[in-house]
Amino acid sequence: MDLKQYVSEVENWPKEGVSFKDITTIMDNGPAYKYATDQIVEYAAAKDVDIVVGPEARGFIIGCPVAYSMGIGFAPVRKKGKLPREVLEYEYDLEYGTNALTMHKDAIKPGQRVLITDDLLATGGTIMATIKLIEEMGGIVAGIAFLIELKYLNGMELLDGYDTISLITYE
Ligand code: AMP
Repeated sequence: MDLKQYVSEVENWPKEGVSFKDITTIMDNGPAYKYATDQIVEYAAAKDVDIVVGPEARGFIIGCPVAYSMGIGFAPVRKKGKLPREVLEYEYDLEYGTNALTMHKDAIKPGQRVLITDDLLATGGTIMATIKLIEEMGGIVAGIAFLIELKYLNGMELLDGYDTISLITYE
Protein backbone atom coordinates (compact mmCIF):
# COMPACT_ATOMS: atom_id res chain seq x y z
CA MET A 1 0.00 0.00 0.00
CA ASP A 2 1.30 3.49 -0.83
CA LEU A 3 0.73 5.19 2.53
CA LYS A 4 1.92 8.60 1.33
CA GLN A 5 -1.28 9.16 -0.62
CA TYR A 6 -3.20 9.22 2.68
CA VAL A 7 -1.08 12.03 4.22
CA SER A 8 -2.60 15.51 3.88
CA GLU A 9 0.03 18.15 3.21
CA VAL A 10 -0.92 21.58 4.51
CA GLU A 11 1.38 24.31 3.26
CA ASN A 12 2.35 27.27 5.46
CA TRP A 13 0.78 25.80 8.61
CA PRO A 14 1.13 26.41 11.53
CA LYS A 15 3.38 29.15 10.16
CA GLU A 16 4.79 30.47 6.89
CA GLY A 17 7.32 28.12 5.28
CA VAL A 18 6.23 24.93 7.07
CA SER A 19 4.72 22.04 5.10
CA PHE A 20 2.63 20.30 7.78
CA LYS A 21 2.10 16.56 7.32
CA ASP A 22 -1.36 15.79 8.68
CA ILE A 23 -1.70 12.11 9.59
CA THR A 24 -5.36 12.28 10.65
CA THR A 25 -6.24 11.16 7.11
CA ILE A 26 -4.27 7.96 7.71
CA MET A 27 -5.90 7.41 11.09
CA ASP A 28 -9.45 7.86 9.88
CA ASN A 29 -8.91 5.28 7.13
CA GLY A 30 -9.19 1.80 8.65
CA PRO A 31 -7.10 -0.14 6.10
CA ALA A 32 -4.37 2.56 5.96
CA TYR A 33 -4.11 2.84 9.77
CA LYS A 34 -4.01 -0.95 10.11
CA TYR A 35 -1.38 -1.26 7.36
CA ALA A 36 0.86 1.35 9.02
CA THR A 37 0.48 -0.36 12.40
CA ASP A 38 1.17 -3.82 10.93
CA GLN A 39 4.33 -2.56 9.19
CA ILE A 40 5.73 -1.32 12.50
CA VAL A 41 4.71 -4.52 14.31
CA GLU A 42 6.55 -6.50 11.63
CA TYR A 43 9.65 -4.30 12.07
CA ALA A 44 9.58 -4.74 15.85
CA ALA A 45 8.76 -8.46 15.88
CA ALA A 46 12.37 -9.58 15.40
CA LYS A 47 13.73 -7.20 18.03
CA ASP A 48 12.51 -8.93 21.18
CA VAL A 49 10.84 -5.75 22.40
CA ASP A 50 9.43 -5.56 25.95
CA ILE A 51 7.63 -2.22 25.84
CA VAL A 52 6.67 0.63 23.47
CA VAL A 53 7.38 4.29 24.30
CA GLY A 54 5.96 7.29 22.44
CA PRO A 55 5.95 11.06 22.95
CA GLU A 56 2.65 12.91 23.21
CA ALA A 57 0.39 13.19 21.43
CA ARG A 58 0.89 11.60 18.05
CA GLY A 59 3.46 9.11 19.33
CA PHE A 60 0.53 7.59 21.25
CA ILE A 61 -1.54 7.25 18.09
CA ILE A 62 1.22 5.25 16.45
CA GLY A 63 2.55 3.38 19.48
CA CYS A 64 -0.57 2.23 21.31
CA PRO A 65 -2.00 0.03 18.53
CA VAL A 66 1.48 -1.43 18.02
CA ALA A 67 1.75 -2.30 21.74
CA TYR A 68 -1.76 -3.76 21.73
CA SER A 69 -1.02 -5.85 18.67
CA MET A 70 2.23 -7.19 20.19
CA GLY A 71 0.61 -7.85 23.56
CA ILE A 72 3.11 -5.61 25.39
CA GLY A 73 2.82 -2.37 27.37
CA PHE A 74 3.07 1.28 26.42
CA ALA A 75 4.76 4.04 28.44
CA PRO A 76 4.01 7.69 27.62
CA VAL A 77 6.45 10.59 27.28
CA ARG A 78 4.67 13.78 28.29
CA LYS A 79 5.30 17.48 28.59
CA LYS A 80 6.37 18.71 32.01
CA GLY A 81 3.58 18.87 34.59
CA LYS A 82 1.32 16.20 33.08
CA LEU A 83 2.45 12.99 34.79
CA PRO A 84 1.24 12.57 38.38
CA ARG A 85 4.04 10.56 39.97
CA GLU A 86 7.80 11.07 40.29
CA VAL A 87 9.35 11.80 36.89
CA LEU A 88 12.66 12.05 35.06
CA GLU A 89 12.92 15.20 33.00
CA TYR A 90 14.97 16.10 29.94
CA GLU A 91 15.12 19.61 28.56
CA TYR A 92 16.09 20.40 24.98
CA ASP A 93 16.34 23.42 22.71
CA LEU A 94 13.68 24.46 20.23
CA GLU A 95 14.04 27.08 17.49
CA TYR A 96 12.82 29.60 20.07
CA GLY A 97 13.22 28.60 23.72
CA THR A 98 13.24 25.14 25.28
CA ASN A 99 10.92 22.21 25.84
CA ALA A 100 10.94 19.70 28.69
CA LEU A 101 9.75 16.11 28.34
CA THR A 102 9.14 13.72 31.21
CA MET A 103 8.53 10.04 31.94
CA HIS A 104 7.55 8.35 35.18
CA LYS A 105 10.89 7.30 36.65
CA ASP A 106 9.77 3.68 37.08
CA ALA A 107 8.27 3.39 33.57
CA ILE A 108 11.21 1.38 32.21
CA LYS A 109 13.03 -1.34 34.14
CA PRO A 110 16.82 -1.68 33.66
CA GLY A 111 17.57 -3.98 30.73
CA GLN A 112 14.12 -3.69 29.12
CA ARG A 113 14.18 -3.53 25.34
CA VAL A 114 12.22 -0.55 24.07
CA LEU A 115 10.57 0.33 20.76
CA ILE A 116 10.12 4.10 20.33
CA THR A 117 7.33 5.30 18.04
CA ASP A 118 6.43 8.73 16.72
CA ASP A 119 4.42 10.17 13.87
CA LEU A 120 7.19 12.22 12.34
CA LEU A 121 10.95 12.80 12.50
CA ALA A 122 11.78 16.46 11.87
CA THR A 123 14.91 17.86 13.63
CA GLY A 124 15.08 14.85 15.96
CA GLY A 125 14.98 16.85 19.22
CA THR A 126 11.89 15.07 20.55
CA ILE A 127 13.27 11.60 19.86
CA MET A 128 16.70 12.41 21.32
CA ALA A 129 15.00 13.56 24.54
CA THR A 130 12.96 10.33 24.55
CA ILE A 131 16.13 8.24 24.08
CA LYS A 132 17.88 10.08 26.95
CA LEU A 133 14.99 9.39 29.32
CA ILE A 134 14.85 5.68 28.42
CA GLU A 135 18.61 5.22 28.70
CA GLU A 136 18.74 7.07 32.02
CA MET A 137 16.40 4.40 33.37
CA GLY A 138 18.67 1.65 32.01
CA GLY A 139 16.44 0.77 29.06
CA ILE A 140 17.84 -0.43 25.74
CA VAL A 141 16.53 1.31 22.62
CA ALA A 142 15.99 -1.71 20.36
CA GLY A 143 14.28 0.17 17.54
CA ILE A 144 12.73 3.49 16.55
CA ALA A 145 9.76 3.63 14.15
CA PHE A 146 8.46 6.75 12.43
CA LEU A 147 5.43 7.00 10.23
CA ILE A 148 7.08 9.93 8.40
CA GLU A 149 10.65 11.20 8.04
CA LEU A 150 11.44 14.67 6.70
CA LYS A 151 14.85 13.84 5.23
CA TYR A 152 15.64 17.47 4.42
CA LEU A 153 15.86 18.30 8.16
CA ASN A 154 18.57 15.63 8.73
CA GLY A 155 17.16 14.45 12.07
CA MET A 156 18.44 10.94 11.28
CA GLU A 157 22.02 12.18 11.76
CA LEU A 158 21.30 12.48 15.49
CA LEU A 159 20.11 8.87 15.55
CA ASP A 160 23.33 7.43 14.17
CA GLY A 161 23.92 3.98 15.67
CA TYR A 162 20.25 3.33 16.43
CA ASP A 163 18.07 0.95 14.45
CA THR A 164 15.29 2.94 12.74
CA ILE A 165 12.49 2.64 10.19
CA SER A 166 10.50 5.37 8.43
CA LEU A 167 7.40 4.21 6.54
CA ILE A 168 7.05 7.41 4.50
CA THR A 169 9.84 9.81 3.51
CA TYR A 170 9.96 13.31 2.05
CA GLU A 171 13.21 14.35 0.35
P1 AMP B 1 11.34 17.22 15.98
O1 AMP B 1 11.57 17.21 17.46
O2 AMP B 1 11.86 18.45 15.33
O3 AMP B 1 11.85 15.96 15.30
O4 AMP B 1 9.75 17.30 15.73
C1 AMP B 1 8.96 16.59 16.57
C2 AMP B 1 7.49 16.65 16.38
O5 AMP B 1 6.99 17.85 15.80
C3 AMP B 1 7.02 15.53 15.49
O6 AMP B 1 6.82 14.36 16.26
C4 AMP B 1 5.76 16.06 14.90
O7 AMP B 1 4.66 15.68 15.73
C5 AMP B 1 5.92 17.56 14.92
N1 AMP B 1 6.28 18.09 13.60
C6 AMP B 1 7.43 18.72 13.27
N2 AMP B 1 7.41 19.11 11.97
C7 AMP B 1 6.23 18.69 11.46
C8 AMP B 1 5.61 18.77 10.17
N3 AMP B 1 6.20 19.36 9.12
N4 AMP B 1 4.37 18.21 10.01
C9 AMP B 1 3.77 17.60 11.05
N5 AMP B 1 4.28 17.51 12.29
C10 AMP B 1 5.50 18.04 12.51
